[in-house]
Amino acid sequence: MMHQAAVSLGVPTRFLAENSDDPAAQVSPDVTIGSARSANDLRNFGRSCAVMTFEHEVVDLDGIATVDCLVRPSPAALAVVADKLSMRAAVAAAGAPGPPHVAATSVEAISAARADWGRIVVKLARGGYDGRGVFIDPSDAVVAELVTRSPLLVEPMVPFRRELAVIVARRPAPADGGLAEVAVYDPVHTVQHDGQCAEVRAGEVDAATALAAQRIATQLAERLDIVGLLAVELFQLDDGPLLVNELAVRPHNTGHHTIDACVTSQFENHLRAVCDLPLGATALRSPAVMVNIVGNDNGDDPRDYLAPALAAHRDARIHLYGKHARPQRKVGHVTVCADSLDIAAERAWQVVEALHGSMDAAPNRRRQ
Ligand code: ADP
Repeated sequence: MMHQAAVSLGVPTRFLAENSDDPAAQVSPDVTIGSARSANDLRNFGRSCAVMTFEHEVVDLDGIATVDCLVRPSPAALAVVADKLSMRAAVAAAGAPGPPHVAATSVEAISAARADWGRIVVKLARGGYDGRGVFIDPSDAVVAELVTRSPLLVEPMVPFRRELAVIVARRPAPADGGLAEVAVYDPVHTVQHDGQCAEVRAGEVDAATALAAQRIATQLAERLDIVGLLAVELFQLDDGPLLVNELAVRPHNTGHHTIDACVTSQFENHLRAVCDLPLGATALRSPAVMVNIVGNDNGDDPRDYLAPALAAHRDARIHLYGKHARPQRKVGHVTVCADSLDIAAERAWQVVEALHGSMDAAPNRRRQ
């Protein structure tokens, strides 16, 4: 998706991909096979780049600090978000609100947190994504296993009303000490199934909440000196306040609707920011719902159902990533813009269900 944005702007790109059938390698004519987890591969690749950027955060942090080209976002920003404990510390240092939490490496520390808070959530500090690495009210047996994978972050189960996400794009700060240009998107309501984002609703958040979320995101982007995108995942409590749950410094799943529903997509604004080009308008053109397409348990490939899915709704925009469909793997998404969010959601889910061949096969069927 970043490649598509680069094509439109005529920005020459080359990709470092682990395998020749990775999504970017399938569409780019200029691919180097290698790993962002290898310092050597990063250094060799960096020799042929003016700017290096990322679509994930699984990067060798020592290696990335030694490459020759510009790295945006900076190695320091990547290091902050690669570890949930350092990320929480950075959020607190920036004066942004977050849930209470403690670091834990022992069964005793987790028991103490449970005694204080009742229901708890235990998270691997490093390496988790899409809820893999998040354990809600873990049993004693799970806790015993988890402490072998420490460091862990432990926090109370937050009784949130809904989850929101907001994305801000930021250019490098000018050399004269002036303020960096930023462009912030409307916050979205995100719906998770088993810790994984299933549905994103854009155009639902009230103006006061939206402003509060945008202020938090902009303040964090400034304080962490982000160049590129910063995505901020938030819990909204019953009485309105927001808590920062998670940060990402790259294009984010909760911004995929921006391709079809906003004036400038998150991918294009990420590229513009890291290339130090003027940012594009973020305005939402219409209410929109994005639903992820996730691999089936029965091994069917959604690509085999493209024709019925295209026929299911002519307003739907289907994006398939060219990934093999493994259970729970995100392999694409569908966005529908409509005057009402409920209509958009109804249509998007119909298309996703068509991509699974039947309602019963769809792994993340709509939950009421
Ligand atoms: P990941 O990095 O794997 O996406 P997150 O920390 O974002 O992990 O957690 C994934 C999901 O788990 C969240 O979107 C939320 O639905 C749920 N979750 C995480 N932490 C808490 C918490 N403290 N209280 C309640 N739910 C939580």
